[in-house]
Amino acid sequence: MLELTHDKLRSAMESFGQPAWRADQFADWVYRKGVVDPAGMSNLPDDAAGRFTILDSRVACRADSSDGTIKLLLELCDGQCVECVLIPTGSRATACLSTQVGCAMGCTFCASGLGGLVRNLSAGEILQQMLHLRQASAMRITNVVFMGMGEPLANYDATIKAIRSLTDPQRFGISARNIVVSTVGIPAAIRRLADEMIPITLAVSLHAPNDAIRGQIIPAAAKWPIAAVLDAARHFYRSRGRELTLEYVLLGGVNDSPLCADGLARIAGQLRCNVNLIMYNPVEPLGYCRPGRAAADTFASRLRKHKVIVTVRRSRGLDRQGACGQLRLRQAGQSQGADASQPEKINRAAKRGSKRPLQCRPTQTPN
Ligand code: SAH
Repeated sequence: MLELTHDKLRSAMESFGQPAWRADQFADWVYRKGVVDPAGMSNLPDDAAGRFTILDSRVACRADSSDGTIKLLLELCDGQCVECVLIPTGSRATACLSTQVGCAMGCTFCASGLGGLVRNLSAGEILQQMLHLRQASAMRITNVVFMGMGEPLANYDATIKAIRSLTDPQRFGISARNIVVSTVGIPAAIRRLADEMIPITLAVSLHAPNDAIRGQIIPAAAKWPIAAVLDAARHFYRSRGRELTLEYVLLGGVNDSPLCADGLARIAGQLRCNVNLIMYNPVEPLGYCRPGRAAADTFASRLRKHKVIVTVRRSRGLDRQGACGQLRLRQAGQSQGADASQPEKINRAAKRGSKRPLQCRPTQTPN
């Protein structure tokens, strides 16, 4: 149902022998009120909403962090798992969505890529995460970031279809300005995204001041030199007029030296952008360490001296395996009853789509 535009929903309703306006009532329940159980849609006859599948995924685990962050592990219809997160900040609530099961980019510091890409999510599966998060909290979701598992621009069509639903006033109705697509930086896809004419914000995971360091920590980036990524990002800025974000995860002893800060400042100086420094959320088997607060502050001050606009991303949900892919990693370890640090085991667990009982605070959803 979530994949349908409102017009298509109306036609589908008619094809089930109902007047088209029943679709307006149905959409109101799902998108505005967040009700997903047809039995709770009091003004609709049973055979109207009941003919549609709204969710074919379920919440397998829920982890609540002391800062209010809620992280869900969803089990999809084929037993694969993805994560999504709700991050409250003042009056805002940001949904962090996944676009793929696993990831092919192989960033050497990230848990999502352990075991590689399993499969793309459909637009419906991306959007189902919104409904599950909505059910998990009383807060209205105001912002969306594509910063969960996977590379959104490597699952381009489903991501765009999901964004069109998110921004559609008749569906999720979220302002495009409140949507961030975070990408490892695939130049051709960034250009294509610019041409979609949707005023979303683009965040590029740069993470290094030069191709040598970038190639070490993001092996897939060897195909896309920083210069090509920045050219595409500039094109995005020119056609969309939206300032870019450069994301930079600080990895102790790898990319956090003063020289790296100077290199990053040179890059940022060539673009209309802000730099978002991310405190590394350690993933045990990967061996990277998070620099101390003082080292991060020194790095940020050095950038500011070069007149770069810098924000330091507070770590949300660190106490509950906050970074992308970590809950799934832990879950794979539990359901294997073995050492989750071995990527091939994650891979096998994920590919098999284990239906074993879940052990991390199982929860139930209405359907
Ligand atoms: N594929 C997209 C989305 C990834 S998740 C991309 O590369 O941008 C969003 C951000 O979190 C990316 O910048 C990613 O590099 C970063 N990230 C991944 N694992 C992390 C970790 N353990 N700690 C901190 N940031 C992490």
